[in-house]
Amino acid sequence: MSKRQVLTIAGSDSGGGAGIQADVKTFQERNVFGTSVITAVTAQNTLGVHGIYNVPLEGVRAQMDAVFSDLDIAALKTGMLVDESYITLIADELATHPDIPSVIDPVMVAKGGALLMKTEALKAMRDKLVPMATVVTPNIPEAEALAGMQIKTEEDMKKAATILRKKGSKNVLIKGGHMLDKTCARDYLLMEDQTERWYETPRIDTKDTHGTGCTFSACIAAELAKGKTVEQAVKIGKAYIQAAISQPIHVGNGHGPTNHWA
Ligand code: PLP
Repeated sequence: MSKRQVLTIAGSDSGGGAGIQADVKTFQERNVFGTSVITAVTAQNTLGVHGIYNVPLEGVRAQMDAVFSDLDIAALKTGMLVDESYITLIADELATHPDIPSVIDPVMVAKGGALLMKTEALKAMRDKLVPMATVVTPNIPEAEALAGMQIKTEEDMKKAATILRKKGSKNVLIKGGHMLDKTCARDYLLMEDQTERWYETPRIDTKDTHGTGCTFSACIAAELAKGKTVEQAVKIGKAYIQAAISQPIHVGNGHGPTNHWA
């Protein structure tokens, strides 16, 4: 039987912990066939981002044409998109594939502080790409930027999710890892039919969390490709990411990557 094929449209991390590399490793571990459209090449390791080299738009378009003209993509995710021109290109492409479930990870800033999306691109992300999403997966700072509000409490997380649903994302997952609670990380999912779920896991004290967001959204895309519901896919993703963070593999001298074998 042919394997389910999944696409990531994102940036490359030469250090192997985040971006395209994290996505394709996750696809492999989740038993789907991973494909990739690379939007930018980062010179990066566990210590930080040392340079960003954008792939020309024409090259991004050519990669998408090559993938979509041959492979049968069952779900996709997006990651690092540097500016409005990339966001518009991808949004226009997704509009031609309305039946492919899409996980939009609105990557903005790397853990080390490097800007992975220009701030001027925020409006395009909110108004062009978020409306195309089957599920959008912001962390707290990303949700604050997209919803245009501060998030201090769990009530605020719910409000921000409602705002993003109104922007057109069918489902919204706000990852609560940046909240101040020292004991647990609570993620909030607001679904298409207005039902909601909280996912709570004990907080793990580690610096080895590089690529967690990429891995989470890639896992959700892989599970959607296998026919899981958004609710099931998020539940599986949360368990996978928790296992990945709790068993660090001690790679590099900075923020180590999550453990994709977990
Ligand atoms: N580099 C690339 C290419 C990414 O796509 C991402 C995250 O999405 C990162 C770095 C940031 O990873 P982290 O914030 O987990 O270090």
